[in-house]
Amino acid sequence: MAKKTIDQVDVAGKTVLMRVDFNVPLDDGGQITDDRRIRMALPSIQSVISRGGKLVLISHLGRPKGDAGDSKYSLAPVAKRLGELLEQDVAFASDTVGQEAQEKAGGLSDGQVAVLENLRFNAGEKAGDESFAEKLAALADIYCNDAFGTCHRKDASMFAVPKAMGDKPKVVGHLVGKEIEYLSGAIENPQRPFVAILGGAKVSDKIKVIENLLNICDYVLIGGAMAYTFALAKGGSVGKSLVEKDYVGLAETLISGGGDKLRLPVDTHCGDDFSSDCNKQVVDAGKIPDGWEGLDIGPKTAQQYADIIASAKTVVWNGPMGVFEMSPFDEGTKRVAQAVADSDATSIIGGGDSAAAVDQLGFADQVSHVSTGGGASLAMLEGQRFAAVDILDDQD
Ligand code: AMP
Repeated sequence: MAKKTIDQVDVAGKTVLMRVDFNVPLDDGGQITDDRRIRMALPSIQSVISRGGKLVLISHLGRPKGDAGDSKYSLAPVAKRLGELLEQDVAFASDTVGQEAQEKAGGLSDGQVAVLENLRFNAGEKAGDESFAEKLAALADIYCNDAFGTCHRKDASMFAVPKAMGDKPKVVGHLVGKEIEYLSGAIENPQRPFVAILGGAKVSDKIKVIENLLNICDYVLIGGAMAYTFALAKGGSVGKSLVEKDYVGLAETLISGGGDKLRLPVDTHCGDDFSSDCNKQVVDAGKIPDGWEGLDIGPKTAQQYADIIASAKTVVWNGPMGVFEMSPFDEGTKRVAQAVADSDATSIIGGGDSAAAVDQLGFADQVSHVSTGGGASLAMLEGQRFAAVDILDDQD
């Protein structure tokens, strides 16, 4: 069931408490090095202020310890940057539920914005504390969740706050609405053939995703270092490749359960060192010589995967096919990215490294959706339900 969006509630003259993801990278001097997350929140922010709502923004930033209020994680620079982007004053409260927050939130006129200090300066945030949440909820008439990256968590601002809002409107913002539309749309009602591409460093991170997607997809294509744990499970040699020996048994189970759906590399691009200028060779999968390590899928595998992707109607991709940061071991990831970009499929790229790879290789604007949440998008692909989303209002 689709969730009610911020555009669908009347915000004029009302105070909206919006949970956003302002977890931006900062340099040692406290300067924002990439303001993308602030800019991405602008559509939901504009939706409120352009219609005369009063907006109170809440977010976490980094991992400050305890209650101390570690100033290097202050949201003050974010409030300043937001003011520049909006070209209007943005108030900043140096606390979250204290007197200043109440005054700044209560003092807003229609169309004005306040940012409260880092939620994680209060231990109640990570603890999901209800009395902390009640104080936040009391600031507003409407709650909006536009922080997809934390939707798989039950932090106070994600779950206890909307719970404490009671019958007041609780809606999704533009970012979360789009994530749910694409990710849960793919899982609940995919156009077929539905192809999942899973790579990255560790099979252990993605077991539940592989298990869930084997039940739903028509093909699951495996790449990245996790392929070598599967190669070991098939009795192959993997040289000094990255493997997780403890997961070989599980890989065997996935191979026998996955049948023809589960596709493993047929060749491997390996090197005698973890560096761009190492000696290189392409070998058949499972035939990596001693002293060599697999660093990418080989060209035959890349072609086979590209052919499967070409016929897909839905593609979900999480994890690079090789060490894409290190040329020429980016070739497999590039070939797959090109195939995804060329296909007519609805294509969904998981957050984290896959999003970075697609971005770095220049394909980000040729896919349907690049998720903003690494952990959250994986959790959704695992088939997890998100309490933080379930608690929000459904569309009428
Ligand atoms: P993940 O965060 O699990 O998606 O893993 C992404 C990381 O996996 C990237 O930094 C890649 O460089 C790394 N990776 C992918 N393939 C390999 C490989 N064959 N050997 C070592 N690291 C790899």
